[in-house]
Amino acid sequence: MLLDNVLFFLLGLVLGSFINVIIERIPKGISIVSPRSFCFLCKYKIPFYRNIPLLSYLIQRGKCSNCNENISYQYIVIEFLIGILWLYSSFVFNNFYEMISFSIISSFLIAITVIDYKHFIIPIEISTFIFLFLSLEYFFDKSILSSLQGAFVGSIYLLLILLITWLITKRQGLGYGDIQLIFVLGYWLGIYKILFVIFFSALTAIIFWLILNYLKEYDKNRALPFGSFLCINSIIFYQIEINYLFRF
Ligand SMILES: [Zn+2]
Repeated sequence: MLLDNVLFFLLGLVLGSFINVIIERIPKGISIVSPRSFCFLCKYKIPFYRNIPLLSYLIQRGKCSNCNENISYQYIVIEFLIGILWLYSSFVFNNFYEMISFSIISSFLIAITVIDYKHFIIPIEISTFIFLFLSLEYFFDKSILSSLQGAFVGSIYLLLILLITWLITKRQGLGYGDIQLIFVLGYWLGIYKILFVIFFSALTAIIFWLILNYLKEYDKNRALPFGSFLCINSIIFYQIEINYLFRF
């Protein structure tokens, strides 16, 4: 059992390394497969033996081996976070298939969280990837009906909020990326959880917005990365058993 956990941690580090590539490249429109990993400062192509997750960063003390500039600590934080997430998943889920599925989906949701937070975009490539990945699961054992309900009810609910916000404030509060993301998250979580996720995302986003406006100067037009809140709340709510609340 212990060996399995270590293996999951290592797999998480490897995927975390790839998630870093996605976070850096997708917003800039650079392909995620070629060119090979390179230093964003001096464009030095990183050989594979210097591209070992976590270890290379520690050995080189966070500096590029070519230009000696500091590499952003964001890389190591994300690699480590995703490693821990996989490790955690290997402890909490009994079903091996669910372990893998939760780990992969959560890792890509972390990519969306960071990208939306930094650039205010939700790349459709990642939402689509998650959608296709989930669709594969129906070849195994899940019920597709509950997922489709989640996807549609979640999206329609969000569209209604958008419409009401627009009628009252004449402003568009959310983008299409948010709706695509809600669709995919509803597909993952099902009809009840997605409604909880939307509610708690709005709540935590408002609290975050108030804190930010309190700490920095007040700006009522300050943008909020709503997608980041949706992703984090989804990762949490996936694990919470709420169905017993709905035994009609
Ligand atoms: Zn460099």
